[in-house]
Amino acid sequence: MEYAKNGIKVVIVGAGLSGIVCAQALADKGFEVTVVDKGRQAGGRLASRERQPSFDYGAQYLTASDSSFKDVVANWSAQGLVLPWNGRFAQAEKARAGFSLVRSVPHKERYVGVPKMNSFVVALAAELTKSATLLSQHRVISLQTNSSNCFSVLGEKIEPANETVTETFILTGFDYAVLNMPPPQIVALISAIDTAGGALTGRLVTSESFDLIKQVELSPCFALIVQLASAPALEYDGIKVANSPLAWVARDSSKPQRAGENWVLHASPQWSNSHIEDSLSDVTAALLAEFAVLNRQVLPVVLFAKCHRWRYALPQNPLALGALFDSANKIGYCGDWCQGNNIEAAYLSGRHMAEAIVGDSALAG
Ligand SMILES: Cc1cc2nc3c(=O)[nH]c(=O)nc-3n(C[C@H](O)[C@H](O)[C@H](O)COP(=O)(O)OP(=O)(O)OC[C@H]3O[C@@H](n4cnc5c(N)ncnc54)[C@H](O)[C@@H]3O)c2cc1C
Repeated sequence: MEYAKNGIKVVIVGAGLSGIVCAQALADKGFEVTVVDKGRQAGGRLASRERQPSFDYGAQYLTASDSSFKDVVANWSAQGLVLPWNGRFAQAEKARAGFSLVRSVPHKERYVGVPKMNSFVVALAAELTKSATLLSQHRVISLQTNSSNCFSVLGEKIEPANETVTETFILTGFDYAVLNMPPPQIVALISAIDTAGGALTGRLVTSESFDLIKQVELSPCFALIVQLASAPALEYDGIKVANSPLAWVARDSSKPQRAGENWVLHASPQWSNSHIEDSLSDVTAALLAEFAVLNRQVLPVVLFAKCHRWRYALPQNPLALGALFDSANKIGYCGDWCQGNNIEAAYLSGRHMAEAIVGDSALAG
């Protein structure tokens, strides 16, 4: 489909779900959009392992409560991008005598991307490239404005596996900038802005938006992916865990279009916080030991295990504001943390962000 361009250029830093949704909504209105992300592919915290064995080591499933988002999920489902996860769910609580399992978890509709959790956001990103530019493996390190208040974005092309810098880049001439990144990374980026291009730092750090962004905290999370040689004793596919180093244990392979005995263990925010600088091998050993206690039996042979450290996983005090838009400086901020702490919030925030820019540009025009 061809879109009539309106000549307004927008750069979006971050190709998380929120950034992708914002970009598509703007491209549909004729904006010339460039999305830049440091990762190998779009999706951010909606992350699945690219190689085999495959695991979802970021977001586990999505739920929908807002009626417009329910329609979106129904549409993704009709396109075969997501399917319901009809697993067996439980809650476990650790006490002195060990874990007690509560089997009756209230039913809710849980959906997952197929064949991987990130498949649907990767598909949305592929669709976006028909009407916008998407640059992956581009880490932004600075924003600048020139005398006509157009944004430039400076950064480094990187190899995400080892963060090696391959070359530098500069993109120029944007009327609007959107930052779809976790708040601590936004604060670091804004604080590092080169003031030579129009004292942008001073304007942004004194803005109302910046005060709000600084307040939002994200808890860390260690995610351990484990492939077992055979099924463990646990008869559940998803267990929320309390009073333990673990917060969530899931049989990843019980999700549709997966196979094997692949498990994902998430450490609790408190435990992750107090072990944040531990070696990944120490974290792996500690979480596997706790998994065995939860399983009440020695675990089957571990064929594969890999631990990921999410420094910024889940917003603890989201803003419930949709998105933040600083009209004076033509910069916006979107992401789950603007609205809530899940995939639905990220989606809705991206939509709000696009609406704010469309509204502002209509006023300016
Ligand atoms: C372990 C874990 C479990 C979760 N479980 C669930 C769940 O079960 N259900 C649920 O609904 N939600 C869950 N979530 C939350 C869900 O993943 C997020 O709400 C959602 O993915 C956030 O999307 P986003 O677009 O706001 O941000 P992000 O996905 O964080 O996107 C930000 C993007 O910015 C990019 N970026 C950052 N800095 C730069 C830079 N300097 N230059 C270029 N690019 C940059 C990143 O690479 C990333 O792609 C979980 C999250 C984690 C981490």
